[in-house]
Amino acid sequence: MPTDSPSPAPAGSPVSPAPSGSTIAERLAVVRARIAAAAGAAGRDPGEVRLLVATKTQPAEAVLEALAAGVDLIGENRVQELVAKAPAVAGRVADGALEVHMIGHLQRNKINQVLATATGLETLDSPELARAISDRCVRDERTLDVLVQVNVSGEESKSGVTPEDAAGLATAVAALPGLRLRGFMTIGARVEDSGEQGVRAGFARLRAIRDGVLASGAPGTAAATELSMGMTNDLELAIAEGATIVRVGTAIFGPRPTPPR
Ligand SMILES: *Cc1c(COP(=O)(O)O)cnc(C)c1O
Repeated sequence: MPTDSPSPAPAGSPVSPAPSGSTIAERLAVVRARIAAAAGAAGRDPGEVRLLVATKTQPAEAVLEALAAGVDLIGENRVQELVAKAPAVAGRVADGALEVHMIGHLQRNKINQVLATATGLETLDSPELARAISDRCVRDERTLDVLVQVNVSGEESKSGVTPEDAAGLATAVAALPGLRLRGFMTIGARVEDSGEQGVRAGFARLRAIRDGVLASGAPGTAAATELSMGMTNDLELAIAEGATIVRVGTAIFGPRPTPPR
């Protein structure tokens, strides 16, 4: 079972993993500056890149501190944590001030819990899961925003469809009545393993998949513009390749206890 748990960067990592700043608000400011600088370097408008704060293993108090500093999008990896922290953020979600994305692997028996607490799912990786969620949404007379997760690095430990299967799954998802296809998500290879060019090539591959699906004009694909890619160690590379959502945890909260699961 893939865990989608990105490994912590080793000491001496080429892209500084250590958070700078001493409060969550200060670290957020540093991350926002990194995003703005990377967008500028790529000739992009910084407003095109949204920050998703990855809150796994963080207590509700830390999450609330981030929200007080202006965060409007968070991501959780485990259904259990998503459900546990839901009461703390429910008011903001109801007000439309906060979106909550599930960014970890989802098992079909936990669909109901995710639908009750998340506003979006970034890890859609099979037609069976897509149909099951869509059916549930149709029964509830609602839709769910979803991203198709693609395993661009081909590492066995990562979930997601293969790049070859991505467009087919996306087209099928886009045609389902309960789902709204918003784009694609990937966890990049580690810079330490694949080098910056290798990591960038993976991100470029995700962009090409998205562009192909958009160009297909298939029903329901017009809103599939998002590219969720880039984390603490590689957000600059992802933004250079077109990321519209970067998912950042360590640079904001500090290193997580290892192993995280
Ligand atoms: C933990 C996690 C992140 C954030 O990773 P950091 O390296 O801590 O910034 C992003 N995406 C997913 C899917 C994660 O599990």
